[in-house]
Amino acid sequence: MQTKLLINGKLVAGEGRIEDVLNPATGKVLAQVAEASRGQIDTAVKAAHAAFDGWSRTAPKDRAALLLRLADRIEADGASFAKLESQNCGKPLAAALNDEIPAIADVFRFFAGACRSMTGAVAAEYLAGYTSMIRRDAIGVVASIAPWNYPLMMAAWKLGPALAAGNTAVLKPSEQTPLTALKLAELLAELFPAGVVNIVCGRGGSVGAPLTRHPLVRMISLTGDVATGGKILGQAADGIKRTHLELGGKAPVIVFDDADLESVVSGVRTFGYYNAGQDCTAACRIYAGAKVYDRLVADLSSAVGSIKMGAQTAKDVEMGPLISAEQRDRVAGFVARARKQKHIEVTAGGQSGAGGGFFFEPTVIANARQSDEIVRREVFGPVVSVTRFKDTDEAVRWANDSDYGLASSVWTQDVGRALETASRLQYGCTWINTHFMLVSEMPHGGLKRSGYGKDLSAYALEDYTVVRHVMAKH
Ligand code: NAD
Repeated sequence: MQTKLLINGKLVAGEGRIEDVLNPATGKVLAQVAEASRGQIDTAVKAAHAAFDGWSRTAPKDRAALLLRLADRIEADGASFAKLESQNCGKPLAAALNDEIPAIADVFRFFAGACRSMTGAVAAEYLAGYTSMIRRDAIGVVASIAPWNYPLMMAAWKLGPALAAGNTAVLKPSEQTPLTALKLAELLAELFPAGVVNIVCGRGGSVGAPLTRHPLVRMISLTGDVATGGKILGQAADGIKRTHLELGGKAPVIVFDDADLESVVSGVRTFGYYNAGQDCTAACRIYAGAKVYDRLVADLSSAVGSIKMGAQTAKDVEMGPLISAEQRDRVAGFVARARKQKHIEVTAGGQSGAGGGFFFEPTVIANARQSDEIVRREVFGPVVSVTRFKDTDEAVRWANDSDYGLASSVWTQDVGRALETASRLQYGCTWINTHFMLVSEMPHGGLKRSGYGKDLSAYALEDYTVVRHVMAKH
C-alpha cells in the first residue's frame, strides 16, 4: 500500500508521528501513515510556491490535457481506488465503485473544459482614451484540507478547480482517511510538473494548522466541521488569506400533504442513510404535513428497517459503519438523549451494531419537535427525525430556523408550491421531489454556518481565481 507523501514531485515517507488508519467495519488497523514533519510541510509549500509561476502561465488547454489524463487514469484504476476507499471509510464497495469513481473522473473532466471557457465583463473604452479589460488569474498556493466522508471525491472537488485555474496546491487529507489521496499521489507525481500538487498527511493541529499558517499559502480551502471552519478563519486572519469553507449541514425535507409518498419514502430511505448519513446534505430533518405524517412515519420506519447494514463487500449491503468508534458513540449519544424525551418515539433502529466495527443501525426518530437537539444539531450519522407541521409558513419557518444553510428539499405535486417554497428557503441548494443529486455543472455550497465556498461548477473556478483589471492608455 502506498503510504508516502508527495512533496515536490517525489514520494517521500512522512517524518512525523505514525498514525494508525483503521478499517471501520472491523476496527482493525489497515495501514500506518507517518505525518509530515514541520520541515516537510515547509518544503511542500515552498515547492508549490516555486511551481506557481510556471504552472499559472501554462495555457488552459495544457492544464486541461493533464486533468483529462488524470481522469482517465483514475477511471482505468477505478476498481482499486474504490476498493481502497471502501476499506478505509467502511462504505459499500459498490457505492464507491459505481457512484463515486465516475463522479470523481467527471469532476476533473468538467474543470478541464471549464477553465478553457471562462466568461466575464467585456473589454471596452469605459474612459475615452483607455481600454479596460478583466482578467481572472490564479491566486497562488492553495492549502486544501479535506474531511473523511468522501476522501477522494473531496480531493477532486478541491484539486480540480484549483489546478484548472492555474493555482498550485498542498492537499491534506483527513488523518483518518488518507489512503486514496496517497494512491492518487502516484498518478499526480507521474503526470504533473514537480511541486504543482503536493500531499501531506497528518492531524489538524500538527499538520493542518502549520500548513494553513504558512506565509506562502495564499488561500485555504476546507471541507469540514463548523468548529474547524472557525479555527481556519483564525489561522487565515494574520495573512489575510482567502478562505473557501464548506462546513456542516442539517438538511430540511419538507413533505407536503399532496406529495407522492412512495417516492418520498424511497428517497429518504436512500438519501437519509447514504454513506451511513455521514453526508452534509443528508436528508435528515423531515417536516411532514399533518395529513401525511402518520403514514410517512409508518412507511418510512418499515422501509428503513429493511436497509441492509454490513461490511464493504457483504451481499447486497446498502449501509456501512460510521468512520470511527468516536463517531458511532457520538451518534448513539444523540439518539439516547432524544429517547429520554417523553414525546419522542424511536420507530426504527436506534442501537449500535455488535462486533468490532463501528456500526449504528439506520434510525428514525418520530414526533420530534423543532426545539429538540435531534432537530437542531448535525448528527452526521444514519438518523432521520420527523416533525409534523400545520401549514406552509410553519414548515418554511422551521426549515430556515437552523444554524445551517447547505441543502434542502421540497416534496409536492404542485409545481407552484414547490417553486414558491424553494424561493423562501435559505439554503445553497433546494431539490424538488428529489434530494442529494449533484452534477459537476452546478454549484454545491452553503449559507450561514455551512460556509460560503462553492464547489463544482464555474462558480468554483471563480472562487479559486482573482478578478483583476488591466487598463491601457491609448
Ligand atoms: P473536521 O473538521 O474534523 O476535519 C476536516 C479536516 O480539517 C481534516 O483534514 C482535519 O485534519 C482538518 N483540521 C482539523 N483542525 C484543523 C486546523 N486547526 N487547521 C487545519 N486543518 C484542520 O471534519 P471531519 O470530521 O473530517 O468531517 C466531517 C465534517 O465535515 C462534518 O461536520 C460535515 O458536515 C462536514 N462536511 C461538509 C461538507 C460540505 O460540502 N459542506 C462536505 C463533507 C463534510
